[in-house]
Amino acid sequence: MKGQLVWMTEPMKFEIREYDLPKVEPEAVLLEVLQTNVCGSDLHIAKGDMPHLCNGGIGHEMVGRVIEMGDRRQTDSAGNPLKVGDRVVPCYLVTCNN
Ligand SMILES: [Zn+2]
Repeated sequence: MKGQLVWMTEPMKFEIREYDLPKVEPEAVLLEVLQTNVCGSDLHIAKGDMPHLCNGGIGHEMVGRVIEMGDRRQTDSAGNPLKVGDRVVPCYLVTCNN
């Protein structure tokens, strides 16, 4: 199985790239992307408003399904039980929970 991502080669130029799926580390999970969202920062990046981000994978908001879990991963970041097949929404801004 291969993964795919949208890669921006320069502002407003995109291509679909394939990559080998990573080996899942003991504390990690591997997700299948089910649905994505385009947010305001993605639009600024795509237009070239953030020159330091003008060549790379784009997008950071998604709903996914757990397809593989590391040996030591049993919960999500909030401590709730997690298993293969669960749908998740990754949090791209993690706080200290205080
Ligand atoms: Zn966003």
